[in-house]
Amino acid sequence: MTAQHELVIRAASALIDGAFRPAELGIAGGTIVAISTEPLEGDEVVTLARDEVLIAGLVDTHVHVNDPGRTEWEGFESATRAAAAGGVTTIIDMPLNSIPATTTLEALEIKRRVAAPQQLIDVGFWGGAVPENLGALRALHEAGVFGFKAFLAPSGVDEFGFLDAEQLERALKEIAELGSVLIVHAEDPGILDSHANNGGVDYHRFVESRPDEAEITAIERVIAGVRRTGARAHILHLSSAQALPALRAARSEGLPITVETCPHYLTIAEEQIPDGATRFKCCPPIRDDANRDALWHALLDGDIDIVVTDHSPATVELKTRGEGDFQLAWGGIAGLQLGLSAVWTEAQRRGIPLETVLGWMSRGPADFVGLTRKGRIAVGADADLAVFAPNETYTVRAAELLHKNPVTAYDGRELRGVVRQTFLRGVALAPRSAQSPATGHQLSATDNSR
Ligand SMILES: [Zn+2]
Repeated sequence: MTAQHELVIRAASALIDGAFRPAELGIAGGTIVAISTEPLEGDEVVTLARDEVLIAGLVDTHVHVNDPGRTEWEGFESATRAAAAGGVTTIIDMPLNSIPATTTLEALEIKRRVAAPQQLIDVGFWGGAVPENLGALRALHEAGVFGFKAFLAPSGVDEFGFLDAEQLERALKEIAELGSVLIVHAEDPGILDSHANNGGVDYHRFVESRPDEAEITAIERVIAGVRRTGARAHILHLSSAQALPALRAARSEGLPITVETCPHYLTIAEEQIPDGATRFKCCPPIRDDANRDALWHALLDGDIDIVVTDHSPATVELKTRGEGDFQLAWGGIAGLQLGLSAVWTEAQRRGIPLETVLGWMSRGPADFVGLTRKGRIAVGADADLAVFAPNETYTVRAAELLHKNPVTAYDGRELRGVVRQTFLRGVALAPRSAQSPATGHQLSATDNSR
């Protein structure tokens, strides 16, 4: 006699151990307790449609929720609803653009308190490493942040300062002692200063103001620091493919450096960005088509580990400040709800299978932050799942997204792949309904059960 499960999900195609195959999932207590090719019995049975596949929920380790303090930009409720609608079941929140920034234990406690009643999905937190808190990172580490973010050039907000070369070294030493990870926005401030221009509405001049060498130089500084200190480091939002040879060499030397890139660098090229279209502004910038090709090759070669959104929303007013002037508009691209279909659309065009994409966007980010119950369909894993129709297409309408502000670089794009249902620990989420959003848990890097 087979066990009676709380929920059974029947899929003709489920992504298990990196390959799609027919499977029945038995779910109890929020956990996947059985995976079978034989029929399972459940109090409730969900059978996927013929055009749907079952995948583990995505894990997005690079999300700016901006709550509290800049909730007109986003907020935990809107961010987690948008995430759920896009098949994302776990986000790790960035320490800046909220006020306070997550650079003290008190600030982390405030964030956790603010987020708890608003979360539709699971949320963890990054801490920040800024000049003021160096030497005092341990409290945040022990409170369960997943690592520490640092900028090597101005962050754009006054309350989150950047680390100079000497401070970077100190941060890496401290992180090495803690056994944590430094995640780095790597652009060199001196090179940015010497390329500052008044490019106005000309997108190419904006790209020239943040050249490849700004990324390369900053990344080389991180590599040298990792070599000296033994700290783990992670390069955030890699845009310049020209930095890849240095990273490849460092990694083959055995240095503990991981690399991410973002959907906008993989799916949009400079040549497609009209002058004055500041919804495409982000730092580092979206570069040319040849660079984009090189980023795809690096993913396939394993030189880039993961793809996460760097969802960094702001108000329409800030994104259009200066009427098309790239120096005046706020930088940052909102794409949390669209990451999977954006990347899948481009991957399919390039003949790359869905299981490969999900390795970069689900399993990979979960492994990066040590969430062994996330990002996989496996017995013992959380039943965080998404039902995905990979061949259905749609046109992005910014105003219809669940992000708080109706502005995104993907507006008007035709994308392939629709998330039809998302489950968090076996509970079907309804991001568009008025249901109480407090379904999500708060994740801590110190929780051994993660
Ligand atoms: Zn970011």
